[in-house]
Amino acid sequence: MEFSPKFFYNGFMEYLILGLAVIVIAIALSFFANLFKKQGSKVPPKKTKSNTNQNASNGPGLVTCPMCGTPLPKGENLVSKVYRPMNVPDQRCTISGCPHCYPMPEPGIKRQCPCCKKEVPINGYLIARLFNYKNNKKHVMVTGCSECCKH
Ligand SMILES: [Zn+2]
Ligand SMILES: [Zn+2]
Repeated sequence: MEFSPKFFYNGFMEYLILGLAVIVIAIALSFFANLFKKQGSKVPPKKTKSNTNQNASNGPGLVTCPMCGTPLPKGENLVSKVYRPMNVPDQRCTISGCPHCYPMPEPGIKRQCPCCKKEVPINGYLIARLFNYKNNKKHVMVTGCSECCKH
């Protein structure tokens, strides 16, 4: 019987391939384990993100009426008129009030100008400048009322 180096070689190659397969499986397993770990760690930041979004919508999203100072919940808007042109960064607008002070002021609510502190009549209004920022955010700056801008 002759010792066959070919058979030895084939057997060695089979072991080599088997060994490689084991290594590949081990790498794949650790890869999937990392993937699951990452997915697991991704869940808590998502929760905190949604929490911060809720906080943000409760905080600066709340608008207070410049006429009577009533905080307006979502869905209640100021009664305002914006004058054309619409696509300039600084528009003139008038604010008649909010649902709490216009057209009928609720009991205990005063229509007061934030600039001259005078009471604004029901047919009066606040004069404001509306700034349209590039990120679609709007900023309203009250410059006076129909009473103090007369003079
Ligand atoms: Zn109001
Ligand atoms: Zn005024």
